[in-house]
Amino acid sequence: MEIGQSNAVEQQAVERRLVPTQRHLIDGRFTDSLDGTTFCTLDPTTNRPLAEVADGKSADVDAAVNAARRAFDEGIWPRLSVAERAKTLRRIANLLRIHADELIELEVRDIGMPIAQMHGLAARAAENFDYYAGVITELHGRSFQVGDQFLNYTVHKPVGVAGLIMPWNAPLMLSTWRIAPALAAGNTIVLKPAEWSPLTATRLAELLGQAGLPDGVFNLVHGSGEGAGAPLSRHPGVNLICFTGETATGSTIIAAGAPTLKRSSVELGGKSPVVVFADADPGLAVDAAVAQIFTMNGQRCTAGSRLLVERPLYDRVVGAIAERARNIRVGDPFDKRTELGPLIHPEHYERVLGYIASAREEGATILAGGDRPEHLPDGNYLKATVIGDVTETMRVFSEEIFGPVLVATPFDGEDEAIRLANATQYGLAAYVWTNDIRRAHRVAHAIDTGMCWINSQNVRDLRTPFGGVKASGIGREGGDYAFEFYCDVEIVHVALGMHPIPRLGLAGPD
Ligand code: NAD
Repeated sequence: MEIGQSNAVEQQAVERRLVPTQRHLIDGRFTDSLDGTTFCTLDPTTNRPLAEVADGKSADVDAAVNAARRAFDEGIWPRLSVAERAKTLRRIANLLRIHADELIELEVRDIGMPIAQMHGLAARAAENFDYYAGVITELHGRSFQVGDQFLNYTVHKPVGVAGLIMPWNAPLMLSTWRIAPALAAGNTIVLKPAEWSPLTATRLAELLGQAGLPDGVFNLVHGSGEGAGAPLSRHPGVNLICFTGETATGSTIIAAGAPTLKRSSVELGGKSPVVVFADADPGLAVDAAVAQIFTMNGQRCTAGSRLLVERPLYDRVVGAIAERARNIRVGDPFDKRTELGPLIHPEHYERVLGYIASAREEGATILAGGDRPEHLPDGNYLKATVIGDVTETMRVFSEEIFGPVLVATPFDGEDEAIRLANATQYGLAAYVWTNDIRRAHRVAHAIDTGMCWINSQNVRDLRTPFGGVKASGIGREGGDYAFEFYCDVEIVHVALGMHPIPRLGLAGPD
C-alpha cells in the first residue's frame, strides 16, 4: 500500500469513528437529557464505542409528550388542509432521497447490515411518505342516504399524540413506516428508537424539521426500554402506542397503556415456516429460502427461519441450502460484496449462540456454520448456520432466534405440513412452495399467519396489510390499514328538514 493510500484509509477510519452526540428533539430543539446522563452504543464490527447518546428518562418523556400535546391541541399541523400536509410529506420523501447515502451509512454503522442490502430499505423509507401523501389527497369520507330528512357522513380525524416505540433491526424503514401515516392523519409524535440503534432517528429528526414540520409535531427521546419506553407507554398524554419488538415487551406495553385506554398496535416476533412440497421447483425454493433467512443478517421479523420440506425432497433441498450457506460471504458490512454482516450487539450474539448450543445438546445436526468465521476474530460475526434433524420438541423449532440460523424438519403429506407450520406461538409470515395451485391456496388458508407468500418471498406492495396473528401481534401496518389506526372516524348526523322531535315529559293536548 502506498503512503497516500494508507493516509486515506486511516482518514476514512477516523471519519467512520466520529459520530456526533445523539440528542433528544423536543419542541423543535435538540437537547441533552434533563439529568445530563448519556450512554454509549457499540460498533457491531468491533464492539468498540460508536456513539454517545442522551439517556432519556421519565422527565424527558414528559417534556416531549407535553410538546407533542401542545402541537396537537393548539398547533397548525392537525388543522392544515390535506393538500398542505401532503406537500410536507412529499418534501420529507425528497429529503430522504437526497440524503439516502448518508442515512444508509449511518444505518450500516449502527446495525451492521450489509450495505448492498440497504438501498432498497432507504428507498422504501422515502416511498412511505409519498404513499401517505397520496392516501390523504385521495381520502373520501362516506355519506349515507337516509331519506330526504337526514344526511349522515363520516369525517376522519387525527387521534392525538402517537407514541412510537421501535426495534433495532431496521430502524429507518420501520420508523418511517409509522411516522408517515401518523403525520398524514394529522397526529403529533414522540418516537423512542431502540437504544442499540439511535443514529438514523436523530438524522431523520433533523430532516423532518428541514422539510418544514412545525416544532413539537415530531419529538424524539432516546433511552432504554425501562428508562424512556416504559414512561412513554403509560403516559396519560399519549393517545396511541405503536410498538414493534419482542412479544414479551409488546404485552407489557399493552398492559401499561390499559389504565388510560391507549389504542395499541403491536408488531411482534415470528418463527415463520417455509413449507416446500415435493412437487415444488427445488431451485427456486432453495434460492428463496437462502434469501429469506440470511438477508438482513437474519435479524428480520419475517425471516423464513423454519424450513419444512416434504421427505422426498428433504435431503436435496436442505443439502443445497447448507452448501450455499457455507459459501455466503461474511464480513465488513461496508464491503459491497458482503452478504452477511455482524449481529447487532454482543448480548444478542451470545443469545443466538445459546440457541445453537441448545440445538446441539438436544440432538440436532449442524449442517453449516454454527460458530464465528476464523478470519473475523472481533465483532459479532457468525457464519450462516443451517441446522438439520430438528424435531418439534426442540427449542430452536419454536422459539425466535433472530439471527442467521435456519432450522430444518422433514414432513410427510399436507396435514403434517400444516400441523408443523402451526406448532409455534407465532403467526407472522409463511411461505408455501408447490406447483399444485389448489394445494397452495388450501395450505395458505390453513396456516395461522398474518401473511402468506406462495412461490415467492417477502415482496410486498405498500397498499397491502402487514402484521401477524397469535403472539406475532395485534393490528396491521401498511396501506389504508395503518392509516385507519391513526384516525378516529366521526359520524355526523344532520337533520335537513323540520322533523318532529318527541317532547318527553310534557302533557299532550286535552
Ligand atoms: P425489544 O422488545 O427488546 O425492544 C423494542 C423497543 O421496545 C426498544 O425501543 C426498547 O427500548 C423498547 N422497550 C423495551 N422494554 C420496554 C418496556 N418495558 N416498555 C416500553 N418500551 C420498552 O425488541 P428488539 O430486540 O429491539 O427487536 C427485536 C424483536 O422485534 C424481534 O422479536 C422481532 O421479531 C421483532 N420485530 C417485529 C416486527 C414486526 O413487524 N412484526 C418487525 C421488526 C422486528
